[in-house]
Amino acid sequence: MRMLIQNESMEARVYCPICTHTVEAEVVSVESGYRRKLRVIGGQRCQRCTAPLDAAFVLDAVGGLHG
Ligand SMILES: [Zn+2]
Repeated sequence: MRMLIQNESMEARVYCPICTHTVEAEVVSVESGYRRKLRVIGGQRCQRCTAPLDAAFVLDAVGGLHG
């Protein structure tokens, strides 16, 4: 059984500060006050430089968050 941090997870583009490339990673939407925020699920690694993506910035959701 997979361990889920939140119910809602999705693919998103994140910016890796190590190799300064945009890669895809799995993110969750978390409540942050009055607005929702996307956060990278911990334990993932950059597909290009294999650095941990914990510190990566979420740029945009790939599928269906907008609209
Ligand atoms: Zn990277």
